Amino acid sequence: MKLYNLKDHNEQVSFAQAVRQGLGKQQGLFFPSELPAFDSSEIDALLSLDFVTRSARILSAYIGDEISSDAVAKRVAAAFQFPAPVVAVEDDIGTLELFHGPTLAFKDFGGRLMAQMLAEVAGDTPVTILTATSGDTGAAVAHAFYGLKNVRVVILYPNGKISPLQEKLFCTLGDNIHTVAIDGDFDACQALVKHAFDDEELKVALGLNSANSINISRLLAQICYYFEAVSQLTQEQRNQLVISVPSGNFGDLTAGLLAKSLGLPVKRFIAATNANDTVPRYLAEGKWLPKTTVATLSNAMDVSQPNNWPRIEELFRRKQWPLKALCYGAVSDDVTRETLKELAKLGYTSEPHGAIAYRMLRDGLQAGEYGLFLGTAHPAKFKESVEEILGTELPLPKELADRANLALLSHYLPDNFAQLRTFLMALPA
Ligand SMILES: *Cc1c(COP(=O)(O)O)cnc(C)c1O
Repeated sequence: MKLYNLKDHNEQVSFAQAVRQGLGKQQGLFFPSELPAFDSSEIDALLSLDFVTRSARILSAYIGDEISSDAVAKRVAAAFQFPAPVVAVEDDIGTLELFHGPTLAFKDFGGRLMAQMLAEVAGDTPVTILTATSGDTGAAVAHAFYGLKNVRVVILYPNGKISPLQEKLFCTLGDNIHTVAIDGDFDACQALVKHAFDDEELKVALGLNSANSINISRLLAQICYYFEAVSQLTQEQRNQLVISVPSGNFGDLTAGLLAKSLGLPVKRFIAATNANDTVPRYLAEGKWLPKTTVATLSNAMDVSQPNNWPRIEELFRRKQWPLKALCYGAVSDDVTRETLKELAKLGYTSEPHGAIAYRMLRDGLQAGEYGLFLGTAHPAKFKESVEEILGTELPLPKELADRANLALLSHYLPDNFAQLRTFLMALPA
């Protein structure tokens, strides 16, 4: 697989390089040089396979020239160990539940495949993933890399500033996962990580890498669950399919559009955002004018400069698809609340991100069409707001309940780079 840097098309890399590097020069994103496509009989054959077998074939269409199909199949089987079921919500609407992984959000798919691919391309060179978290990303990264050979993970988080349950979720693993509670806030943690990446000697000694969300391996993982969704639909539903994607950094939507470019039958996509509506305003008015990010109920989508957007524009340009084919809209917190209640009346408990996608879908779906909205997180991940809005109590899912009684294995350090450096250099191999 060859990829080019969207900011400088002369910078070309292999898949292995793109996975190791994350970003290109000038912080440019990597984009595939070739866009593989299946014909309709190949698509039908793919849709009849099981999730893991099918996903390995899809990935091999991109990376088969670099990684053998056996190795790809093994990596996919290790990464995708939980289902992505479509659950009916109304006669003409279903939801693709992407939250049955270890940290209860769709980021488990991308995080776990990235971990497997990094282990695959790193060979015998040890890698140290160093990352700062305010909660959720750390959990997904920790679980994704847990137990992998030649990969150490160090996660910094602000001591006492993440929820006790969140801390239990990723600070109880041990083995190759090292969690460090820093006596400071999230910005202090991020500054320490930056400092470490500026330290060339440390970088080389540890093989430092960040588990960045713009890594191409994450997108490839996410393509696979769009196929899994369609495989669960009837032929009639497949013929008239509309998919609504709750969007923040627009990685999920990019993956959906790449699935369409591979030949997956999707009539149209809806890009649904919260009040951080840079993309809907851009699509309506043609001007890219990010505003200051505002805090909303759907906080994983509180992004005003979505970093995957250049990939979407490039894909539309390459495929000669008109940008106006993309549907879009923004949903306020008030409407999100009402929509959560509406869904509860239909017998479905959602959470703010999924509710936004449902709202745009319900309002835009036409007679004869079938709609899917992505359920990106388990409602228990947003327990406080969901319980308050619906006036009910949510049971703790097993993934959280199981870890609640385990002992924390974190180290404690002051906000001091010299001490962090000593700690990192002394880590067991
Ligand atoms: C990350 C996230 C999103 C947004 O996904 P993008 O790929 O960044 O657009 C939506 N919902 C939840 C629950 C998330 O964690």
